[in-house]
Amino acid sequence: MNIKVMKFGGTSVGDADCIRRASRIVAEAARQDHIVVVVSAMSGVTNRLITAANESARGDLAEFRKLVEQLRAEHLTAASALVNDEKQLAALITELENVTNDVSNLCQGIALLRELTPRTLAAVSSIGERLSARLMAGALSGLGVPAAVVDATEVIITDDEYSQAEPLMDQVRRRSAEKLLPLVDQNRTPVVTGFIGATVEGTLTTLGRGGSDYSATTLGAALDADEILIWTDVDGVLTADPRLVPNARLLREISYNEAAELAYFGAKVLHPKTLRPVAEAEIPVWIRNSFAPERAGTKITKSGHPTSDGVRGITAISNVSLITVGGRGMVGVVGVAAKTFAAVASVRANVLLISQSSSENAICLIVDAVDAARTMKALRTAFASDLVHHDVEHITANPDIAIVAVVGEKMCGTPGIAGRTFSALGRKGINIIAIAQGSSEYNVSFVVEAKTMRDAVVAIHDEFKLHLPAVRSEQEIVAGFDPVHLAS
Ligand code: ASP
Ligand code: MG
Repeated sequence: MNIKVMKFGGTSVGDADCIRRASRIVAEAARQDHIVVVVSAMSGVTNRLITAANESARGDLAEFRKLVEQLRAEHLTAASALVNDEKQLAALITELENVTNDVSNLCQGIALLRELTPRTLAAVSSIGERLSARLMAGALSGLGVPAAVVDATEVIITDDEYSQAEPLMDQVRRRSAEKLLPLVDQNRTPVVTGFIGATVEGTLTTLGRGGSDYSATTLGAALDADEILIWTDVDGVLTADPRLVPNARLLREISYNEAAELAYFGAKVLHPKTLRPVAEAEIPVWIRNSFAPERAGTKITKSGHPTSDGVRGITAISNVSLITVGGRGMVGVVGVAAKTFAAVASVRANVLLISQSSSENAICLIVDAVDAARTMKALRTAFASDLVHHDVEHITANPDIAIVAVVGEKMCGTPGIAGRTFSALGRKGINIIAIAQGSSEYNVSFVVEAKTMRDAVVAIHDEFKLHLPAVRSEQEIVAGFDPVHLAS
């Protein structure tokens, strides 16, 4: 039998009804394949845990006491709704109580010391997954699917960046073989806590916010799974954000590269590192809607959709700031770019886009809005003497902008895409502030004023007729199918 990893996000396990729906999906799939389940915390729980930890560090005990009570109540209510067998329910309740006691003790410790280390924060944030995994296992047992909770601390071994840990793949592979495969062999369904891991010494770590996706693909790669299914609350990856483009269409199959651009950059459907572990092994990843499991979802593979070329989708983000380092004195001077990016890196700001024209009198880059102030400060310090000597004349930040990216694996080698894109914008009177294209050519990005972002995305979506399936096969054309009703 094949192994499939199924990950359920926070909304997909948001309450007893959602967990029941999710457990039915697993039970159904478990009739044909071995399933390894990965769960997120119930939606909103991780945020509340982090708030409680911070309040405890300020010495405010009321917040965490309130939270512990709420968590206990919510999870016990769900447990009673999901598990009928009295003995099983009693055992589950004891486990849930133990986990909520852990958060109580942790927060008391934090309050006593008035100190919250990244390591302790990781321990507090992990509570939600430890609770939801137990509920999911209970629900599965209730459906007659023997399940076993596996704390990811035993399997996902990571480095010691406590809040952004990186799995150590060799170790994860070994631990998966030791801990998960024997369960699978006994026909028991492992239910693994998403989001968390542990160092080699056993100290709990987390993979970063939204990290359960990454947990799933890490385990999928370690187990050499046949596929990974990410169950969420949307139908899959769309051609554009439907809040911007009402006729955006679901993409049936896209490549890892396209997904990385479309699902992370704009729509934030996936944790940014999700596809890393599986791309090399070419394990397909599905994005499916747990609230509508009959819908097909989006399949992510190495090459993407077999016949479609050109533009596949458009993403846009606006919470960003355009930083420009400029001056005529920069022309021909070696090292300005190095100095710019060293300064940006020194404050750990993530650069989303870079552009420099060949006249060299300005370098512009885009960072997340939250990073803008520290980036500006670092640049002004780094270029202090250049500013005095007017080699660099200005360093400015413009927060009223947006990045729009046109994405498609096979745009490469299709001439005219940039031309059509910019003509479409021109016809709408949309001004382009900067342009960038990576040499991989599956993404052409440009910068516009934030207030024109929506119009820009709509104009390009219309230009490339993305509301229609990308390409019809010859048979389809001959058969005269209506393209609107064809899936691509
Ligand atoms: N519960 C974690 C978070 O909210 C991980 C996840 O949902 O994937 O960040
Ligand atoms: Mg989540």
